Amino acid sequence: YGPDDGILVVDDLRKEFGGLVAVEDFSFAVEEQEILGFIGPNGAGKSTTFNCVTGFYEPTAGTVWYQGEDVTGRPSHEMVNAGLARTFQHFRPLHDRSVVDNVALALVPDKLFSFGGLRGGTRDRAARLCERVGLGDDLHRTPDELPHAGLLRLELARALATDPTLLLVDEPFAGLAGSEVESISNLLRELREEGLTLVVVDHNMRGLLSLIDRAVVINFGSKLAEGTPEEIRNDEEVQRAYLGG
Ligand code: ADP
Ligand code: MG
Repeated sequence: YGPDDGILVVDDLRKEFGGLVAVEDFSFAVEEQEILGFIGPNGAGKSTTFNCVTGFYEPTAGTVWYQGEDVTGRPSHEMVNAGLARTFQHFRPLHDRSVVDNVALALVPDKLFSFGGLRGGTRDRAARLCERVGLGDDLHRTPDELPHAGLLRLELARALATDPTLLLVDEPFAGLAGSEVESISNLLRELREEGLTLVVVDHNMRGLLSLIDRAVVINFGSKLAEGTPEEIRNDEEVQRAYLGG
């Protein structure tokens, strides 16, 4: 893989924690405006890969290119400024702030303690983002008053507040009912239609395959398979590892 193989290119990534090799020889490319599925069982190295790409972890070895530029080891705020956003598997909203404030503060983190509160323009933009993700009726609730799916929508709005080009979504479907999986999938599809590139992680392959254009399957920190949903469904190694076939 080289810098021009996609909007995001990961080549020969390796991440060790002490003696544990969490990710090894892992390479993949994300094409502009696709929805790439990133599939693997718990502990396979999905979140670790996200953390290496988004500057939360320093890779032990390997290269990350974003929009043609070598960004390996760049800190997370620089990646966010460059247009690469992510959601977290475990949500971390500010519990004593309203939903709309949580989003507004993601727009302007450096204005957190400014006198006079948040500026009107910022509030309006945050409210529009809340509406965009389906939280239009929840602006003035606190995060603790939201159901699980609402917290996911808030997490997505906070990521969208950074105006990303590429959004990495970590395990959005965990803990969601079937109807919620469908409505979150629809939201992610709409975001792609609006020009966003998405990488969506899940350990549940069946739910994810109906959403994505292409998948990369990771197992024990390395790539097991890659292809269209159809190719992934029919891959014998994948069936052995994930579908009990
Ligand atoms: P996934 O997201 O696919 O479920 P992770 O990337 O979270 O898997 O974890 C991959 C492996 O790396 C696991 O064995 C996990 O225990 C280990 N790991 C992840 N983060 C850390 C860390 N900060 N310190 C030590 N080990 C970690
Ligand atoms: Mg994970």
